[in-house]
Amino acid sequence: MNIPQSSFPRVVIIGGGFGGIALAKKLSKKEAQVVLLDMHNYHNFQPLLYQVSTGGLEPDSIAYPIRKVLQGYPNFFFRLANVEEIKTDTKRVKTNIGEIFYDYLVVATGSETNFFGNKGIETKGMAMKTIPQSLNLRSLILENFEQALLTDDLHERDALMNFVIVGGGPTGVELAGALAEIKKGILPKDYPDLDTRRAQINLVQGGDRLLPAMSAKASQKAEKFLEELGVNVWKNIRVTDYDGKRVSTNTKTIFDAETLVWAAGVKAVGLKGLDAEEMLCRGERLRVNHFHQIEGLEDVFAIGDVAQMESEDYPHGHPMMAQPAIQQGRNLGNNLVRLLEGRPMKPFVYKDKGSMATVGRNKAVVDMPNFKFQGVFAWFVWMFVHLYFLIGFRNRVVVFINWVYNYVRFDREARLIIRPFKKQNRVKRDNLVKN
Ligand SMILES: Cc1cc2nc3c(=O)[nH]c(=O)nc-3n(C[C@H](O)[C@H](O)[C@H](O)COP(=O)(O)OP(=O)(O)OC[C@H]3O[C@@H](n4cnc5c(N)ncnc54)[C@H](O)[C@@H]3O)c2cc1C
Repeated sequence: MNIPQSSFPRVVIIGGGFGGIALAKKLSKKEAQVVLLDMHNYHNFQPLLYQVSTGGLEPDSIAYPIRKVLQGYPNFFFRLANVEEIKTDTKRVKTNIGEIFYDYLVVATGSETNFFGNKGIETKGMAMKTIPQSLNLRSLILENFEQALLTDDLHERDALMNFVIVGGGPTGVELAGALAEIKKGILPKDYPDLDTRRAQINLVQGGDRLLPAMSAKASQKAEKFLEELGVNVWKNIRVTDYDGKRVSTNTKTIFDAETLVWAAGVKAVGLKGLDAEEMLCRGERLRVNHFHQIEGLEDVFAIGDVAQMESEDYPHGHPMMAQPAIQQGRNLGNNLVRLLEGRPMKPFVYKDKGSMATVGRNKAVVDMPNFKFQGVFAWFVWMFVHLYFLIGFRNRVVVFINWVYNYVRFDREARLIIRPFKKQNRVKRDNLVKN
């Protein structure tokens, strides 16, 4: 990998997400050689992916080059690499560009969509965890309307304009709200020759309330906001399968829909070599102690979504959210410095700063530890917090200007099919287009 030899101990970090970046920033000016490996050369601000999927933002305004984040840090090295295996016996990391030795290793690989083994949903449904996936979804949504114009089969047209979003957590709620706003404000103008009133946005939640990790008040308000926007909220229904055209559920309800978005589960991104049964917990997360060390390995740590640190307050680990990842990254950075200086490490204590979700224009819900509020003020708070945590000055300015423009103009101008997305079952309609 051409990393120079150093007299400092080498800390290899896998993953330049919220946790990995926070850790690298803490450590790279200290007496350690920091090598960050990521399969992407950019940090992805996942909370705003749904705005890319719905044409509200361009993808490059929520991505930021990892090299730029850590520019000027003297002991920092980045390599674009896909990590394939960890060899803990020889303290080496195997990647697609070669192997590297570590003194300390930190796994910060985040999480991926969990389809719970359902192949139909995995192959025919859409996920929204990465920027390419969000662009695929953006293309599919727009292509559906273009295709809907071409058919005089009413059933087929309705299926093309029928969207099923599975999972009533923040991702599902935010995406459903954004699609409903597009239906109301943009489709009638873009497609005057299509009866877009027939478009349906269905949000399907397995449990009895939306946003189950938030307060009851936030759940009720989010549901009310969505209903005001015209979203069909289905609760206590589990989607069981999807064949690309029909969504089956555990009830008699079925949906004929060309688009199913799966936002109903995540699991940790695991690595070969760190997959012993005793290391793994629910959702394939790596069990760590209060110093972020993986069970049985003193020099291997895990932070963020991939790690499960159990405590009295969090018996199933911390929520898979940006704040725990950032706080864990910072704590581990401080701890590694202590370790290198021969001082004892400090156990991690999570400071819950609250959670929030937006449903649409002037509509958001915020739960702070001592204060819960909803509506216009919550929406401004949501925007401020997201701008604050977005990495990069340029990105903040671009996103802010986009939001002001979209607010004033009731618009989302990034509704572009740059990279067409072809669903396998599109063949029939593709022929129709050629004819
Ligand atoms: C659609 C969506 C909306 C969200 N909204 C919110 C929100 O509003 N608020 C909130 O707090 N959280 C939200 N989250 C969750 C939040 O984004 C995650 O909890 C957070 O990103 C976890 O940080 P992390 O550092 O653990 O992992 P990540 O940020 O996911 O970073 C992991 C990194 O590891 C890299 N990687 C993985 N495997 C390998 C490998 N084998 N080799 C090399 N590199 C690898 C990846 O490329 C990635 O860069 C949302 C997530 C999604 C998907």
